[in-house]
Formats: sequence, structure tokens, C-alpha cells
Amino acid sequence: MQNKAVFLDRDGVINRETGDFVYETDKFSFNPGIFDSLLRLQENGFMLIVITNQSGVSAGRYTHKHVGRIHAKMIEELSSRGIFISAVYYCPHHPSTGKCLCRKPKSLLVEKASARFDIDPSRSFMIGDRERDTEAASGAGVKGFLINSNAPIDWCVDIIVSEKATDSKSPL
Ligand SMILES: [Mg+2]
Ligand SMILES: [Zn+2]
Repeated sequence: MQNKAVFLDRDGVINRETGDFVYETDKFSFNPGIFDSLLRLQENGFMLIVITNQSGVSAGRYTHKHVGRIHAKMIEELSSRGIFISAVYYCPHHPSTGKCLCRKPKSLLVEKASARFDIDPSRSFMIGDRERDTEAASGAGVKGFLINSNAPIDWCVDIIVSEKATDSKSPL
């Protein structure tokens, strides 16, 4: 059987959306309640995959190195709490420097992750704080949840873990 996953936007979902690019580790702070929510998803058999637009790279505001540092810190802090992030995918492109295929609302990064980890989109979900997140999800056949920036995701998790759509598809 294929894997199931919850795709997570980063800024505004996992960590605080500050209204500006977050690229220094001391500006990165986890949103309240996120650890418990991610643990619950994981305990219910979902892989956790982060999909984030980081256009500040192409805009020249920061570098891939900054992104790598922030993600290393994020992954480390989560793992110290028993939360395993399978992968982080980011689009470094900025619309002003040309079109790319990976920036949300395009769904390429969700599709890439799904292929790499053998994920069944119909049993997977995405949580984001922008419509482009849910658009990227639906483009890949994944059900998306839209939250307010920096708000708890527990209501999404409630629905996801109680979702019987998964079971109803398996033969009786
Ligand atoms: Mg966001
Ligand atoms: Zn891109």
C-alpha cells in the first residue's frame, strides 16, 4: 500500500509568519501547538513533508545557505521532540525573475515528493495559510486545508485523523 502524507507550508503554519522573509535562525519561532499537532499526524501514520516558497533567494534577499541553515535547525528541533520530517522542498524562484514550475500555486513540488515517497495523493492532505497552498494541493490531487496565518492547525488534524475516506476505499 502506498504511503500517506501531510504536506505542510512552512511560514505561517510551522513557524511564525512575520510579514517579512524569515531567513535568520533567530527569527524562526515555532507556532504554538504545532509540536502536538505534528506528533498526532505522525502517530496516525502520515509522513510529514514541508513545501515552501522561498522567493527571497531569487530576489537576492538571502541565499540557499540561509535556507539550508533554517531547515537544518527546524528539522533538528522537531526531531528532538520525536517529530520526523521526511523532506523539505522549496522553490527559490521569484516571479519577477521569470516563471518557474515549482512555485506554489503550482503543484510540482507536491508531485515530486509524492513520486519520491510513493505517496497516495487521495489519502493525503496539505495545510497552508495561503490560497496558493491549497491550490498547489488540489493540482496534485491532495485535499488542502486553509488556516489563518500562525493559527493552530489542530482542527485540520482532527478532521484528517478522523477521515474515513481512506478506509472506505479499501475492500471490505
Ligand atoms: Mg505560508
Ligand atoms: Zn520555483
